Amino acid sequence: MTEVRVRFPPSPTGYLHIGSARTALLNWLWAKKNNGKLILRIEDTDEERSTQNSIDGIIDGLQWLGLDWDEGPYFQTEFADEHRKAADQLLASGHAYKCFCTKEELERKREAAMAAKQDEVGYDGTCRELTPEQVAEKEAQGIPAVIRFKVPKREGSVAYEDKVLGTIARAYSDIEDFVIVRSNGKPLYLLCNVVDDIRDRITHILRGQDHTSNTTRQVLLYEALNAPLPVFAHMPLTLDLQKRKISKRSHGEVVSVQFYREKGVLPWALCNFLALLGWNPGTDQELFSREELIQAFTLERIGKTNSVFNYQKDDPKFFTDPKLISINEQYLRTMPLDELAELVKKDFIKQGLWDEAYENERRDWFLSTLNLIRDRFHTVCDFATLGRAYFANDYAMEEAPLKKNILKYPELKSWLALLAERFAALPEFSKESTEEAARALATELNIKPGVLINGMRTVLTGQLAGPGMFDILIALGKERTVERMRNIEHLYSSLEESAVS
Ligand code: GLU
Repeated sequence: MTEVRVRFPPSPTGYLHIGSARTALLNWLWAKKNNGKLILRIEDTDEERSTQNSIDGIIDGLQWLGLDWDEGPYFQTEFADEHRKAADQLLASGHAYKCFCTKEELERKREAAMAAKQDEVGYDGTCRELTPEQVAEKEAQGIPAVIRFKVPKREGSVAYEDKVLGTIARAYSDIEDFVIVRSNGKPLYLLCNVVDDIRDRITHILRGQDHTSNTTRQVLLYEALNAPLPVFAHMPLTLDLQKRKISKRSHGEVVSVQFYREKGVLPWALCNFLALLGWNPGTDQELFSREELIQAFTLERIGKTNSVFNYQKDDPKFFTDPKLISINEQYLRTMPLDELAELVKKDFIKQGLWDEAYENERRDWFLSTLNLIRDRFHTVCDFATLGRAYFANDYAMEEAPLKKNILKYPELKSWLALLAERFAALPEFSKESTEEAARALATELNIKPGVLINGMRTVLTGQLAGPGMFDILIALGKERTVERMRNIEHLYSSLEESAVS
C-alpha cells in the first residue's frame, strides 16, 4: 500500500488562526491513523505579505498544540525553479499560453462585459490562439506577458470525487483561463501548490471548503502535468452565530491560537474542541484522548455543512465558545496531577509565584493543593488568580463574600480573633480538631457555625466558594491560617477607611 502523505501548507501572512489549526489537526490525525507522514510546508511565495514573525508564530503554535510533523518545514520559495519548469512544461505541451493583454485592456473588457450583462466576465481568450510568430514578435517588442492555463474549450466538466462532499464537477465553460505565472515571472499559488504536492507525493489533501473552486482548477493542472490526483476532502467552514466567517477583524484575538495559550487553555483541550468543530464521532462522546481521537477519526465523518463557533463577543461570562471552556474544565479536573503541575509551574514562573520547594520538599503539598482547588477552575491561569491565596499572601478580596460574610457581622472581628487563638493552641492541627474547635466556639457564642465558617473562608481565601473549609485550613497550614485570622482587625480597619474615604 502506498504511504499516506498529507501536508499542512500555511501562508505565513499572520497569526495561527484556529481554523488553520483545525486543518493542521485533521491532517495530523489522518497521518497518525495511517502511520503516514505529515509534511509542513510554508507557502511563502507572496513575499510582500510573508513575514518571519508569522512563520515563527505558526511553528510555535503547532508545537504548543503538540501537532508534530515528519518532514519540513519546507519553504515554497526554495522550489521556485521547479515551479517555473512546470510552467514551461505546460507551455511546451500546449496546456498554457502567454498572454500579453495589459491590465488596462483587461479592465476595459471586464467593464464592457459587465455593462452588456454578460454572465461571463472572465478572460476572453484574446491571446489563446496567438501563433508562435506573433508571440515572438510581442516578446521582441518587450511586451510583458503572464502565463495562462488553457482550460479546455469543450462541452463537459472537470470533476473529482471529494471524500466529504461527493462528486464535485464544474463546467469547463465556467472556468476562465487562469493565470499561473505573473508578468514578473513569479508563479502563482494554484501552480506552486500543485507542483509541491506532486513533488512531496501528497496522497490526501484535507483543507477548507473555501478551496473547492481552487481544487477544480488544480485538477486541470494535475491532468496537464500527467500526475495522479490525490484524494481531496474539504472541511466545512466555521462561522459565528451570525453566520459570518470568524476573523480577527470581526472577533478579535479569540480566533488566534496564541490567545488560548495565554488564557491557560490546555493544548489538547483546544485540539479536542477543534476536532469536534467540523467532524463528529457519530456518538455522544465529547472527550477524546489523542489515541482515541486518532482511532475514531475518519474522513467520511467530516461535516458537510458549516460548523458554528458559538461565541458572543460581549458575553462577559465566556471568553470563548462555552463548549471549549467546558472541555478544558473537564481536562483540568481529570488530568494526571504531575502533568497539571508542569503547566501550573510555567504560569507561576511568569506570575512570579513559583517556589522551587514545590518541586522538592513541598511537592506533595503542591500536588495535593492543586488537586483540592482544581475542581472549580476553568483554565490553568486560575491557579494564580482564583487560587492565589494558597500560594501567596497578596490575594484579592472579592466584593460579594466581603458584603455577605463579613460586613453583615461586625462581631466577627472578635469572634475570628478568638478562634485564631483556639487554633493556635491546638496540639494537633487537623481537619477534625479545627472543625471541633470552630463548632464549639459557635455553640459558646450561640451562633450558627456557618457564620464562622463563611467568615473564615472569606478572610482566608477572599472568595465566596471553594473547597471544604477544613480542607482549606489544612492546605494553608496552621501558621498561615492563624496569622490571617489574627489579621482580621486590619481587614476591618481597612474596610472602615475605605468607607470613610
Ligand atoms: N497556503 C494555502 C493557504 O494557507 C494552502 C491551501 C491548501 O492548498 O491547503 O490557504
